[in-house]
Amino acid sequence: MSDPNELTVLNPATEEIVATVPAASEEDVAAAVARAVRAQRTWAALAPADRARLLRRFADVVDAHTEELARLEVREAGHTLGNARWEAGNARDLLLYAAGGAERLLGRQIPAPGGWDVTFHEPLGVVGVIAPWNFPMPIAAWGSFPALAAGNAVVLKPAEATPLTALRLAALALEAGLPEHLFQVLPGHGTTAGRALVDHPDVAKIVFTGSTRTGREVMERCARLVKPVTLELGGKSPNVVFADADLTAALDPFSFLDNCGQDCCARTRVLVQETVLDEARALLADALAAVVVGDPADEKTQMGPLISARQREHVRSYVPDDAPALRGSAPDGPGFWFPPTVLTAERPDGRAAREEIFGPVAVLLPFTDEQDAVRLANDTPYGLSGSVWTRDLGRALRVSQAVRAGNLSVNSHSSVRYWTPFGGFKQSGLGRELGPDALTAFTETKNVFISTEGPEK
Ligand code: NAD
Repeated sequence: MSDPNELTVLNPATEEIVATVPAASEEDVAAAVARAVRAQRTWAALAPADRARLLRRFADVVDAHTEELARLEVREAGHTLGNARWEAGNARDLLLYAAGGAERLLGRQIPAPGGWDVTFHEPLGVVGVIAPWNFPMPIAAWGSFPALAAGNAVVLKPAEATPLTALRLAALALEAGLPEHLFQVLPGHGTTAGRALVDHPDVAKIVFTGSTRTGREVMERCARLVKPVTLELGGKSPNVVFADADLTAALDPFSFLDNCGQDCCARTRVLVQETVLDEARALLADALAAVVVGDPADEKTQMGPLISARQREHVRSYVPDDAPALRGSAPDGPGFWFPPTVLTAERPDGRAAREEIFGPVAVLLPFTDEQDAVRLANDTPYGLSGSVWTRDLGRALRVSQAVRAGNLSVNSHSSVRYWTPFGGFKQSGLGRELGPDALTAFTETKNVFISTEGPEK
């Protein structure tokens, strides 16, 4: 049973306790929201250039602490050091990008007879951000920083397992001179603190990242208050590999092993044209065998542990010992280890091919031609990301248009940049984060018509 008043943070690589943190109650959430309401009024009244300057100062302070933040992420989440450094840098870069947006939150002037018509993007007020454990630092940043830049206050609830980097970011914000209570981090349980944030009438919007099941509940609760919501949910993304592709690049196992597979964009359905299936299998077998799994704090490590014993049980349930599979290796002893795995005889309608496993496990599925590839790629309730590999430009364009997913890459596996939009189709989510429109998602559009009619003659 988890303690309702406390969260225990474990190092997933050693199972040692890293920290215990008080868990926020419903009353704590209400008090934080009341403080945020007051802080937001002061913040929104500042000139955009002053808000931008403070956010840039926050970015400088984050920059001075990237190594510390990265090492904290390694300890609480088991991320490899290289990944964690990228994540801390991503938080810093997004702060700088969003800061520029504060001064470019432009309205429009729309022709209207008898007067002038102008639009304004006004901040929503207090934004609630609920983050998962798989990318604690970037996801906290993606939800919070554009909201702050647009003139909102933020109350962030990190995941139970990973509150530490978010808490540190809030402390660094204060150090940089951001107003007190403007960016508050409240560790707590989803069913108490998370629900209290969603249900609070003074929280004007919820940004939720997590499982599709919880996202559905969050949306239902928001509907009762007609509260806007951004949902970044699960994925089961395809990697569509045609026979003419650069097979070695296309079958890079880190397209599904990055962050030990605990990545909503992981390309876990490896769809390979049947004429090159044997070659693909051989390439994947060699690549899996070469993956260095171990201590995430070691610079040479390529893949760390899963987040928890529970997650390991979940992942294991998809990989029976006798399942036909290609397998890498993983350490024994303490830590929530799981070897890199590709299931090779899974049916497209089987559990492992349809459900989000969220571990270092992919399924290999053959297809016959372009039409069959698109059909298989779209045969999922999810639509977050995916890759298309071919040297035929026309086919790359046709397939990218036909696959229903929010973030596709052609001859590449990368899908996340802070300056391009990110989000899912279908049950992978609702709304977009990042990119040039990130700030407007945290505003209401107000239209004002100003009459130019003079006094009656
Ligand atoms: P989760 O849904 O269990 O929890 C996510 C967050 O919601 C946590 O902070 C949790 O405390 C909170 N929560 C739980 N129940 C709640 C409730 N009833 N009301 C309000 N808040 C509640 O998800 P998880 O297991 O932490 O994260 C893994 C999932 O996140 C995966 O499905 C993954 O694909 C998804 N994810 C999606 C993206 C994306 O951008 N689309 C990014 C990362 C992770």
